[in-house]
Amino acid sequence: MGSVSEYFSSLGSGVLSLLKGMKVTGKEFITPKITECYPENRKEHVWPERFRAQLTMPYDAEGNHKCIACGNCERNCPNGTITIETKMVTTPQGTKKKKLVNYYYDLGSCTFCQLCVTNCPTAAIEFNNDFEQAVFTRSKLVKKLNYLPEKEEPEPTPEELAKIEAERQAKIAEAKAKAAAAKAAKEAAQNASQPEENK
Ligand code: SF4
Ligand code: SF4
Repeated sequence: MGSVSEYFSSLGSGVLSLLKGMKVTGKEFITPKITECYPENRKEHVWPERFRAQLTMPYDAEGNHKCIACGNCERNCPNGTITIETKMVTTPQGTKKKKLVNYYYDLGSCTFCQLCVTNCPTAAIEFNNDFEQAVFTRSKLVKKLNYLPEKEEPEPTPEELAKIEAERQAKIAEAKAKAAAAKAAKEAAQNASQPEENK
């Protein structure tokens, strides 16, 4: 008698266990699938906005980028992934400034930390979602981000340069005259404050 009840008891727990398993199977059956059918879904798939695939330097409609060649991104990159080549140019105002020549980015050593982007003062670089970057050699992973020819900086004419230099010399002369006048006034005040017998 005892063995019959044991038989039905174990049969009941077996059925219960089977139902539990079927419950999990049924739940997964109606849960939306998360598996990506890549590359079939390449066109319709929307990548998350935060996904970082490769660094880029966007250009505006006139073909200008926003890089001022300050070098912040290069200095803040922990891997030496960014290499910037610059040159000094003279602005129409007669001052010197750095100008970008080449901006190289090595995708193969990038850790996508985004320190370069967050330290850029002009928001000149950003990450895109283009992750399909398979190539046959590592050298092909080094990309020139300023891919358009750099526009020449308008340089001052010789007349403008002469005018700038004349204004500079006038300012120096004015400052010297002011300093001399202040010195003379100070000496006169010191002489006036000395006792009569010291004079
Ligand atoms: S994301 Fe990080 S590792 Fe990549 S270039 Fe920028 S600073 Fe360097
Ligand atoms: S990308 Fe930004 S941080 Fe890097 S050199 Fe250009 S302006 Fe400076």
